Amino acid sequence: MLYESTRGDYQQLSAAEAIKLGISPDGGLFVPEERVSIPAEEIVALAGVPYQDRAIRILQPFLSGFTVEEISQCVNDAYNGNSFDHPAVAPVVHLADRLGVLELWHGPTCAFKDMALQILPHLLVKSVEKTGETAGILILVATSGDTGKAALEGFKDVPRTAIAVFFPDEGVSEVQKLQMITQEGGNVGVFAVRGNFDDAQTGVKEIFGDASAAGEILRRGYKFSSANSINWGRLVPQIVYYFSAYADLLAGRRIEPGEKVNFVVPTGNFGNILAGFYAGRMGLPVNKLICASNENNVLNDFIRTGIYDRKREFKKTLSPSMDILISSNLERLLFELTGHDAARVRRWMLELRENWRYEVDDSTRAKVRDLFWSDYASDAETIQSIKDTYARYGYIVDTHTAVGMNVYGKYRKSSGDDSYTVVLSTASPFKFNASVALALLGEDKTAGKSEFELLQLLSDFSNLPVPPGLRDLDKRPVRHGDVVEKEDMKRAVVSFLDRRGVK
Ligand SMILES: *Cc1c(COP(=O)(O)O)cnc(C)c1O
Repeated sequence: MLYESTRGDYQQLSAAEAIKLGISPDGGLFVPEERVSIPAEEIVALAGVPYQDRAIRILQPFLSGFTVEEISQCVNDAYNGNSFDHPAVAPVVHLADRLGVLELWHGPTCAFKDMALQILPHLLVKSVEKTGETAGILILVATSGDTGKAALEGFKDVPRTAIAVFFPDEGVSEVQKLQMITQEGGNVGVFAVRGNFDDAQTGVKEIFGDASAAGEILRRGYKFSSANSINWGRLVPQIVYYFSAYADLLAGRRIEPGEKVNFVVPTGNFGNILAGFYAGRMGLPVNKLICASNENNVLNDFIRTGIYDRKREFKKTLSPSMDILISSNLERLLFELTGHDAARVRRWMLELRENWRYEVDDSTRAKVRDLFWSDYASDAETIQSIKDTYARYGYIVDTHTAVGMNVYGKYRKSSGDDSYTVVLSTASPFKFNASVALALLGEDKTAGKSEFELLQLLSDFSNLPVPPGLRDLDKRPVRHGDVVEKEDMKRAVVSFLDRRGVK
C-alpha cells in the first residue's frame, strides 16, 4: 500500500515515509492510493475479540511494510490498563433500544484525541527506524487545549522524539493550562504564547516553513514532524473504533450481521468523521454519517449546499474543540469522492485560499449528501441537551457530545429513520465541567466556584470519580512556566533542544 498526495504533485510513499513526513511537501495530505476492504465475515469475527485485536486487524492493510509483530507492539503499548481506565478501551454504552454512545475518552487526557495520540508516537518511532532515518524527530504542536495535552502524554519519554507545545496564554481553560504546565517527561517543552490561538498556530507554521529553523535543529540532531490530524498516522487509528463499536453491537445482539448503523460525530477539523467515511468504504455497514457542528457551522452549510464559505465570524462556544472554520481533512474526502482528481482538489483549495470560498460540482455534491447528514446546535441547545440527556437516560455528557445528542434528535425528527445509531462521545463530562455543572446543578450552586471545586461538585452529584488525569491538578508542581512572545517561538524551540543537550 502506497500513499499519494491530494494535490498530486509529490511522489508516492510508503506508510512509514508518509507518517514520518506528516504533510506532503506539495501542500497536500497523504491518502492511501488503493481501497482497503474488510470482508463481511471478518467484521462478524471482530465481535469475538478484544479492542487490541480489532485494531491490529484494521491497521494491518494500511501499514504495509510493518510486520504484524510491530503493529501488535504499537497497539499493545498504546491501549492498555496503564493508559486507558476501561478494559474495553472504547466501550459502547446503551441508552435506549436503538441508541448507544461510544465513549472515546477513557485515555489519560479524557478526550478522544488520546485514541490516536497514544499510538501515533509508537507508529512514528517505527517509521523512523524503517526509513533509515538517523535524526531524532521533533514534534511541534500549536493547541487550543485538547491536542496539546494528548500529544504530550503520547510522546513523553518516547525514545528518539522530543515535543514542544505552544498554547495561547489567554486561550485555554484553567484545567487545560494546568494539564500542560504540570506535564512530566524528559523530552517535553511547553510554552505559553502571548496572544491567541491563531498567533500560536501561525508561529508554528512559520517554523515548519523556515529552512534556517530546520537547519538549526538538524545541527542538534532533529527533524520536524507533525502530530495534528493532517498526519495519516493520526487518522488511521480512528478507523478502528467504528469497527469496534459495530462489533460490540453484534456481540450484544443489538443488530444483525450486515445491518446498517448511523454514526453521529461532533465535528471540528473533520478528522473523526472522515475516519467513519473510510470505515464505510472498507465495508462497514454504515447508513448515514451525521455531522454535528456548533455555531461555527461551516461544515453543516457545506454538506447541505456544496458551498464551503469561511467568510464568517469565528464564534467562541461552549464546545471549544469544535470552534474551527477551516476543516483541513475535508480535502481528503473531496479527493476520494472525485476518484482521486488532484487537479479539481487543487483548484478548490486555491479558491479557498484566495477567495475564502469554493463550490463543488453537482456530482460531488450529490455524493456528499448521499453519505452525510448534518445539522448544528447553539450553546443554549447544548446546555438543554445535557439536561435532557440526563433526565431521559440518567447519563451525563460533555458539551461536545451534547451537540451530537441534539443533532441526533433533529435527524430522527427530520428523517424518521430508526436505524441503530451510535453517538460518538468525544470528551469526559469532567473535562468541560463548568458547563456541565451549570446545566445539571444550576446557577445557584455553581456561581463563583473554581473549576476544581466544580469537579468535586460534579463528582458528588454523579457518584462518578474524578478521572485520574484531572485529579489534584492544582496540587502538582508547575514544570513549565515559560511565556514567550510570538516572535521568539523559534528561539524557544532551539534553546529547548539545547537545554536537553545535543543528541
Ligand atoms: C478535537 C475534538 C473534536 C473535533 O474532532 P475533529 O476530528 O477535529 O472533527 C470534538 N470534540 C472534542 C472533545 C475534541 O477534542
